[in-house]
Amino acid sequence: MFDLIIIGGGPAGVAAGVYAARKRLTTVLIAKEIGGQSSVSEGIENWIGTPMVSGTDLAKSFRTHLDAVKDQIMTLALGERVTSLVKTDGGFSVKTGGDKTFAAKAVLIATGAGRRKLTVPGADVFENKGVTYCASCDGPLFADMDVVVVGGGNAGFETAVQLLAYAKSVTLIHRHKEFKADPVTVEKVFAYPHMRVITCAEPVEVLGDKFVTGLTYTDTESDEIKKISASGIFVEAGVIPNTDFAEKLVELDPLKRIKVDPHNQRTNIEGVWAAGDCTDELYHQNNIAAGDGVKAIEDIYLWVKRQ
Ligand SMILES: Cc1cc2nc3c(=O)[nH]c(=O)nc-3n(C[C@H](O)[C@H](O)[C@H](O)COP(=O)(O)OP(=O)(O)OC[C@H]3O[C@@H](n4cnc5c(N)ncnc54)[C@H](O)[C@@H]3O)c2cc1C
Repeated sequence: MFDLIIIGGGPAGVAAGVYAARKRLTTVLIAKEIGGQSSVSEGIENWIGTPMVSGTDLAKSFRTHLDAVKDQIMTLALGERVTSLVKTDGGFSVKTGGDKTFAAKAVLIATGAGRRKLTVPGADVFENKGVTYCASCDGPLFADMDVVVVGGGNAGFETAVQLLAYAKSVTLIHRHKEFKADPVTVEKVFAYPHMRVITCAEPVEVLGDKFVTGLTYTDTESDEIKKISASGIFVEAGVIPNTDFAEKLVELDPLKRIKVDPHNQRTNIEGVWAAGDCTDELYHQNNIAAGDGVKAIEDIYLWVKRQ
């Protein structure tokens, strides 16, 4: 039996792995891959201490750091997807899709989340070629260009605010007449002269050649198909936390995110912690996920030593 199972190889899981190895906790880190969501990013400009790193290089540096500290104390079970997590007599048992079973006294869930994708034709073809899911990461690449934001919730409006700082124009489209975002945020966005908001708009197709050139949508009031020319499409259709395998054990919020105590990342189940984008943490960024992972290990270390 290990002291600890870490599930996830993004910034939260890897930061936790490095700290766990240095604290000599016997650990298995199980992950589909090392790197996490931003591995696909062309350029990450806010990983502290590194003015610019590609997602691929960040993932490589995560792996290098794990290899440097893992020694005999940490096992890496990569290419594995966890399918179940249950409580046992002495701790917890985890099963993977590859039919492996691991047991440990404590578990840290760091499985992150996936963005809800835009599913219209062209959206997958032009992903990372103009269609993007992260304004704080990719927004500056669209300086002085026309961009579209899909989504009328708070995330959509906050994305619009960020983009208004450098884009030539921002058009936010929303499928309903009323917005889900708070009126204060909506009002703030409407005040910009280069901001346009279109309601009752259902996306139909992402247009492009090598890169995105625009978007067509149905005006659901008139049933007409209309077109917006744009170089970038920022999709803010919500996120889906990777928590299915844990939902029978730990408490989730209505968005299926794991509820944690922000002081120490504990879940409602003694012996289970969670960190990063799979939790009800308010903000989702690499540095925050890594910090959450570190915070969890500080607490797990003291807890394991008390057992
Ligand atoms: C395209 C894009 C670009 C981004 N750019 C930036 C940026 O520039 N700066 C920034 O700060 N933030 C950026 N973000 C946000 C940032 O990537 C996330 O906040 C961060 O990755 C969250 O880290 P995490 O460790 O919690 O989860 P994730 O990065 O989502 O990692 C989850 C890990 O768990 C694994 N996993 C998931 N489910 C299972 C399972 N069942 N079994 C085993 N393993 C599993 C995954 O394979 C992965 O290794 C970006 C996000 C996206 C989508």
